[in-house]
Amino acid sequence: MTPQDLAKALEGRGWKASIHKSLKGLVKVHPDGLFKCVDGRESDHAGDAMRGPKALGGIYAIAALRGKRELKHLKPIVAEVRRKGYVPSVHGDDHGSIGCGFFKLWQTGQLPGVRPPNYDGAAGREEILSQDGAYEWLKGGHEEWFTIINLRSGTTFRPNPNDQRFVLDAWVAQEFKLPLAEYAVLAAETVERLRPAAMVAKIIV
Ligand code: ZN
Repeated sequence: MTPQDLAKALEGRGWKASIHKSLKGLVKVHPDGLFKCVDGRESDHAGDAMRGPKALGGIYAIAALRGKRELKHLKPIVAEVRRKGYVPSVHGDDHGSIGCGFFKLWQTGQLPGVRPPNYDGAAGREEILSQDGAYEWLKGGHEEWFTIINLRSGTTFRPNPNDQRFVLDAWVAQEFKLPLAEYAVLAAETVERLRPAAMVAKIIV
């Protein structure tokens, strides 16, 4: 899937899409960075922890796309993310451990073609913490107004609570051998259901 294909697919779903060689705020991924959710809100973690790759629901993206629906499937995924040099994480918010929009859609069967997990947010959090993963607590409301889809391997953007956007480091798909086209559709579905105002994609190549 080329960046142009991706832009066209998004436009076909009613998005605006543009392709960029770079964008202000692009940074290299840091070894202390959380493999974290695309969510644009402010985190209780800070500094280099914000310089990890961003995926749908953090490590839940890997589980969902591989059809790994049991709690016991999280342990090897946490280990795999660690081996690749990132800090595995999931998150909640003021509403508790189901505060991740992607996890909520996945768990309640609202993502077409993706079967829901057999556990809830609280159980997922406990399992990931027990495997030495991280749990983020995000504050405030969603105000994302665009979506960065970053295809440049090894780079990311920090969340900016004062100018919120979703950050999807889509290069992660290749690193974890996930199907990029399916992943892009899942990301589009998630944004469309949670935050139609953010259906503006800036694709970084
Ligand atoms: Zn989330």
